[in-house]
Amino acid sequence: MHTYGRYDVALKSGEGVYAYDENGKKYIDTASGIGVNSLGFCDKGWVEAVSKQAGTLQHMSNYFFSEQASTLAQKLCERTGLAKVCFGNSGAEANECAIKIARKYSFDTYGGGRNEIITLVNSFHGRTVTTLSATGQEVFHNYFFPFTEGFSYVEAGDIEALKRAVTSKTCAVMLELVQGEGGVNILDREYVLQTVDFCRANDILVIVDEVQTGAGRTGKLFAFENYGFVPDLVTAAKGLGGGLPIGVCMCSDKLKDVMSPSTHGTTFGANPVVCAGANYVLDRLCEPGFLDEVESKGKYLEEKLRGLDRVKNVRRMGLMIGIELESGDAHEIAQRCVENGLLIITAKSLLRMLPPLVISRSEIDEAVEILGKVLLQQPAALT
Ligand SMILES: *Cc1c(COP(=O)(O)O)cnc(C)c1O
Repeated sequence: MHTYGRYDVALKSGEGVYAYDENGKKYIDTASGIGVNSLGFCDKGWVEAVSKQAGTLQHMSNYFFSEQASTLAQKLCERTGLAKVCFGNSGAEANECAIKIARKYSFDTYGGGRNEIITLVNSFHGRTVTTLSATGQEVFHNYFFPFTEGFSYVEAGDIEALKRAVTSKTCAVMLELVQGEGGVNILDREYVLQTVDFCRANDILVIVDEVQTGAGRTGKLFAFENYGFVPDLVTAAKGLGGGLPIGVCMCSDKLKDVMSPSTHGTTFGANPVVCAGANYVLDRLCEPGFLDEVESKGKYLEEKLRGLDRVKNVRRMGLMIGIELESGDAHEIAQRCVENGLLIITAKSLLRMLPPLVISRSEIDEAVEILGKVLLQQPAALT
């Protein structure tokens, strides 16, 4: 189905930060398959871990324990200070799980009716009917009526607006610390901490959607570490599996017994091949110095981008980057970049880079050079 506006390119193979199309043309990648290939294409250790597990035990259902899933859950809890993990297959599914946990906690604690969730304008939380509802952008609230009830939206950065939006029915606040699809909007630290304090005082759960910001993307294992608090619920997906579909919903100690047998599940969740990939990714991210390098390379990339013609501003946390342009249509420029051998994505009117976390400084130079060339060629839009 035509659910994506695709480029006229078929990618065939890849190695590190380079991909090759069916004609052998080479591309340098600053998109990572939308923040997924955290270790680049076909990292040797990752391929080995995944292949080995595929040849050992490929699936066994959630009625049994598996070493790969248990190990991954344990590592995630140890690294985050959270208590429990529920595995799924995508970001949207992880968010559905978080929403269910928040509502059940409130149901168990306060009885029915306290089930509303406040999210932020410009957020993006997924494509299922409920996560579209959670997404604070009117363009997503179309066609598929009726949407799930119980969501309202406030402007990011306005703590008074949030307080006004809270009612006796509010059970949770859900946010991305850096809004990815919404345009790489970095939430203000003070605002986030005030939100957390206010929610704590009212037993309103804080759900942080780290589907895009998680797994090292922002220079910490999870972006909430950059803000200095631990949320009640955290979701992750994209970069965690290194290229295989995974979604995780993690909860704090307070919520660890909210879900009981048959309240949630998914056939493929906790798949051992996927978890083997994620275990390998996590181990690499946690190697000494790896995450510091993500931040330092991000800074390097930011400075290079700021030096380019027609770049107005750069929004960045770690290697999550939004490029504001002085002129021109971001989609057109991205198209021209692809034609010139640079894989890049957009977010609203911005160009967006989510390069593989293993990208080197010389590879960054190479990518920026192509972008610089395209920005010089591209005639400014007549808007
Ligand atoms: C991509 C994304 C999602 C949806 O993830 P899927 O795996 O596509 O379902 C949810 N939240 C955020 C912040 C995302 O970036």
